[in-house]
Formats: sequence, structure tokens, C-alpha cells
Amino acid sequence: MSQETAPRENLAHPREIGERSSRPRRMPIPPGKLLIDGRWVDAADGETMNVVDPTTEESITHVQRASAADAERAIDAARTAFEEGPWGRMGHEERARILFRMADLLDERADDFALREAMDMGMPYTDFRTIIMPHCSGLFRFFAGQAMAHMDGSYRTTYEPTIRVLTRREPLGVIGAITPWNFPLALTCSKVAPALAAGNVVVHKPASDTPLTALALAQVALDAGVPDGAYNLITGPGGAVGDALVKSRKVEKIAFTGSTSVGQNLIRNGAATIKHQTMELGGKSPNIVFADADMDAALQAAFWGIFWNKGEVCVAGSRILVEQPIYDEFVERFAAMARDAVLGDPLDPATQLGPIATRPEYDKILGYVEAGKESPARLVAGGNAPKIDGKGLFIEATVFADATNDLRISREEIFGPVVPVIPFDGEDEAVRLANDTDYGLASGIQTSDLGRAMRLADRIKAGTVWLNTWHKYHPNAPFGGYKASGYGREQGAEALESYTQYKTVWVNLG
Ligand code: NAD
Repeated sequence: MSQETAPRENLAHPREIGERSSRPRRMPIPPGKLLIDGRWVDAADGETMNVVDPTTEESITHVQRASAADAERAIDAARTAFEEGPWGRMGHEERARILFRMADLLDERADDFALREAMDMGMPYTDFRTIIMPHCSGLFRFFAGQAMAHMDGSYRTTYEPTIRVLTRREPLGVIGAITPWNFPLALTCSKVAPALAAGNVVVHKPASDTPLTALALAQVALDAGVPDGAYNLITGPGGAVGDALVKSRKVEKIAFTGSTSVGQNLIRNGAATIKHQTMELGGKSPNIVFADADMDAALQAAFWGIFWNKGEVCVAGSRILVEQPIYDEFVERFAAMARDAVLGDPLDPATQLGPIATRPEYDKILGYVEAGKESPARLVAGGNAPKIDGKGLFIEATVFADATNDLRISREEIFGPVVPVIPFDGEDEAVRLANDTDYGLASGIQTSDLGRAMRLADRIKAGTVWLNTWHKYHPNAPFGGYKASGYGREQGAEALESYTQYKTVWVNLG
């Protein structure tokens, strides 16, 4: 490992990354069932799905392969729990107590969650344990507190002195949470925590490839005292189970994170039932490095911006724009960092890039590597898919220099450890290139000129702008996209708002 990739604590992230002295071992994971109405049950037709470890390419366990009929059972259980169960009638304090217990149980079981995520989707165990896990428990604490503080109404006067208006915030009802495979636990917590805090009930459908932390989270909900039917989990294919949630008249909202194309499908399919929707979709986020930036810090932000979680991050800094005067030096040093990046077993504390989560994603990313090699851009690091101990879906940290913004690798979401570096000249060209994309999820500006940073933050069309950093997250920081990256916000008071609706009560005092 070179000096430039070594300082992991410089990863632009709110939490320090601690190194574990010992390496955890793979453990058997029990087969998963569906959680419907407070009970763990099999899929009605007895079908199961295999869960594969991308490091060993061996089966970890199996889970139920639910059908649309199972989804209906879960939706009915949730509907009944919402209409008749205690969850909706509880005071916010009582609900918050249960959500705080969920947060505590997440922290207590952090090692198990980290092991599941490492084996399931190849996320480095240490990153999950020190960054993701505190964020997940933090989301439950934050939204429990938000609901206690802000689920209130108002008392208003009108044109007529004897007529008053009361407003009241109410939950929506049944929330269908549909999540992707790349941050399975975090993207589930960012939906179910505000949904439950506002008094809604949940049916969660995780990605078929990565259901293991979803099973453990559902158990946490049970153990914390979430009433029967208020939290349901169905594992199964998106086309059948997800579709049943989206089209059901008994589901009020779909909270979705996934690809833009599936999101478009969900918007169309939800139209018939006027679904509330939050759409967290894809990205192709520009990281703009100006000549006046602190070069060492900018290299760190660029390295972790694209290569954290092997680039399987919706907000990855997946287009690096570098100002001409420092372009050659930046490319040389960045390529050296990428060549030195440590690929390996996500359970090994030294690993920086684990394996790609699934075989289809691995094949797709390698297709983009080939597209880059055939393009006018110059391959300066990576480009290979090595095996470790003869196994694993590994792809090297791959850098294409001298790219232009019209190449396929510059326009399409690769969702892997592959990045084009594009030269630019001056602020206006930086903004033009940054905004020349269908997406608008995240962006970053590395510069020592605060005025420039703020000017450009105004001009970039993206839901997140990171100035002299990357990968910062907090439960109180709204998160979401512009343009094809979606709409609605997760986290912050804005997220709680999206799981509620207002009722207006007119009172005649006369
Ligand atoms: P995907 O769109 O293929 O699947 C997401 C979920 O939708 C899965 O649970 C899947 O089973 C389900 N699904 C698939 N077809 C469906 C259908 N017809 N009806 C209902 N549900 C259906 O996405 P993925 O490959 O799992 O995840 C990667 C994508 O997610 C990338 O594009 C990435 O950028 C995006 N993402 C976005 C964010 C964000 O916050 N904006 C965060 C992480 C990932």
C-alpha cells in the first residue's frame, strides 16, 4: 500500500475509520423466512432463492422466494395493523421508545450486521462497522426524536371570527419500501425509520441478491416491540413482489431506491392508484478539481469518492473533472493511487475494494471497461479482473485519462470502480461539463477559493454538493436527486414530511 492510499482516516467521512486488529471469520447464516403479521413463515408455494458470497462465489444460505400472493398477504397484514392495531394509536413518545430500542439493538448486533453485509455484497467489514452501522442506528434515533418534536399541528384564524381551523399531521398508511443491493441496510433504514416514526406501517422488499441484513433488521423490529403486522418483510423478485406493492390499492406510498429505468416503471405503474413516491435513482456525479485545490486532499476525495464500496455507490464521484494547470500531475498521482489500491476479502481489515456484489453487475462493469479501452480515452490504471485465491468477482480500480464528456464511460452510470478523468479550463467550462448529464444526484468541488466554491454550489444542478470533501452523510442532511436522479428527499425533516399528510379541521365556535 502506498503512502497515498494508506491514510484511510482521510476518507472524507464524518466517522473515523478504526482498524480492527483481528479479522472476523465467515459464519453460517440461517435460512431466511418471510415476516408477515409478526410471524416468520415460508413462501406459500415453497420456492426459495440462493444467496451467494461474491468473494467465494459460494452459496451462503437461502431465503424465501415470495410470489405476488405472499406480497398480498403481507400488504393485508400491514393494512389491518394500520387500521386496527396499536401502532397508529400510540403516542409519539411510546413509538419513539420502541424506535430507540431498535437503534440500541442495531448497535448491539453490529458485528452480525457487518458480517452479513460483507458476505452478501462485498462491503469491507470495517467500513460497514464504523461508518454505516452508526448511521443506521442514528437514523432511528433521529426520526424518533423528529416525530416527537414535529408531528404537531396548528390552530388558525380565518375570515370569520367564529370560524377556526385546526391542522393535524397524520401518517399515510402502508409504506412499500423497495431497496437495492448496494447499501442494503442503510437504504432500508433511511426509509423505514421515518415511515415508522410518523406512525405508518411497512412492507419491505429488499433486492433479491442481498436480503441478509433485511432479515436481521426485521428481527430487530420484532424484538424491539413493533406490533404484529406493523413491520413485514418479503424477499422475492422485483417483477412479481415489487410490482404487487406498486400496484396495490392498499399501499399508500412506495419509497424506492434503485435504477432510473426501474424507477420510471414504478412511476408509471403507481399512477393508477395515485401512489405517493420517493424516487432515489441513479447518478453520474462530477467531482471538479481546481488548480488551487489542496492536491493531497483532492486526491483523497477523488480516490474515495469513486472507489469506496468498489464504486457501487449511487453518489460515487464517477466523473473527475480536473483543471488544466494541474491535470498531468493529478492524473499521474491519481493513477498511482488506483494501481496501489488493495483488493481483497471484505473481512480483511486491509481491504480497500471488495468484490463486485453480483455476477450480472460484474459482467456489466467489465463491458464498460471494454468500452473505455475502445474509446479515445487512455487507460492509466487497472482494467483487469483478477481472482484472489482463484475466486471472487474482483475488478481493479480503473482510471481512464484524457476522456471527454461525450464518451459512454462519461455519460452512463457504470456503478463500479471505473472512472473517466476529463480536463477543463476555467469555472464556466467546469459548470457546463458538470451539468451536461441526465443525472443530478451529487457533485463535489475541490478548491481553496471559498467564493468560487459557493458560486459553483449555486450553479451545479445536483441534490448534494460536497465542497472540499466527499461521502458526508447525516440523518439531518436531506438527500436526494435532481433530474433523472429522482425526486423526494430521504433524511432530515423533509423525509419525515414525506411520510405524512395534513388534515384540516374546521371549527364553528359560534
Ligand atoms: P434496481 O432498480 O434493479 O432494483 C431496485 C429494487 O427494485 C430491487 O429491490 C428490485 O428487486 C426492485 N424491482 C425491480 N423491478 C421492479 C419492478 N418492476 N417493480 C417493483 N420493484 C422492482 O436497482 P439495483 O440494481 O438494485 O441498484 C442499483 C441502482 O440503484 C443504481 O442505479 C444506483 O444508482 C441506484 N441507487 C440510488 C441511490 C440513491 O439514493 N439515489 C442509492 C443507491 C442506489
